[in-house]
Order: sequence, then C-alpha cells, then structure tokens
Amino acid sequence: MHELSIATAIVEQAGEIARADGAGDVSSVTVRVGELAGVVPDALHFAFEVARDGTALAAARLVVERVPAQAWCGECAEEFALGMPPFFWCPRCDRPSRELRSGRELEITGVEAVPVPP
Ligand SMILES: [Zn+2]
Repeated sequence: MHELSIATAIVEQAGEIARADGAGDVSSVTVRVGELAGVVPDALHFAFEVARDGTALAAARLVVERVPAQAWCGECAEEFALGMPPFFWCPRCDRPSRELRSGRELEITGVEAVPVPP
C-alpha cells in the first residue's frame, strides 16, 4: 500500500522536527495533500495509525488539509478549479491550460509537540 510508505515518511519527518525543537512526543501533525497527489485521505489515516506505533507519534493525531487542484489560464488571466477527475480546459474560454498552480502538494505544514515539563 502506497499510503503506508507516505505515512511512514510523515512519522519519521515529524519525529525529527519535534526532536530538532527539543520536544519529545508529538501530539498532532498537519499535512497538506493536493487533490492530484494520488493520496486517499482515509487510507492515509489508516496507514498513519499503523506507522505511528511505537514511535514519538504513538498518540499523535493526523490532520489532513486538502488542497484543491487549480490551473492558470493565460488568456483569461485567471485560475480555475480542475475538479475531479481533473479537466484541464478553462471553463471561460475553453482553451487548454498547461500550468498547474496547485494540487500536487504532499507536505508537513505543522507539528505540535507535547510540552516537556521544565
Ligand atoms: Zn480562459
């Protein structure tokens, strides 16, 4: 399952970020997932529960922020939503767009750590 390798990478990276901040356990991790990233959020949540086992993220919550796929139309100087399945034609002028502006994101945007007692 492809989501499991992604979830494992998220757990490793979030753990490293927390360690770099001098924190121990992670309480929540937020990821941005584009519509075209090829990741199914439900599968990612499930994979995360498997991947976090026995790590600093064992009690962490996964927050998935979906990013809609947007393309740019140079003729109209406007962004438009591609929708699902993605359709690369501008709905205003009916010309194809070759410029994807968003939708391929797969990144950690936030790691919250459990506060360490002084
Ligand atoms: Zn257009």
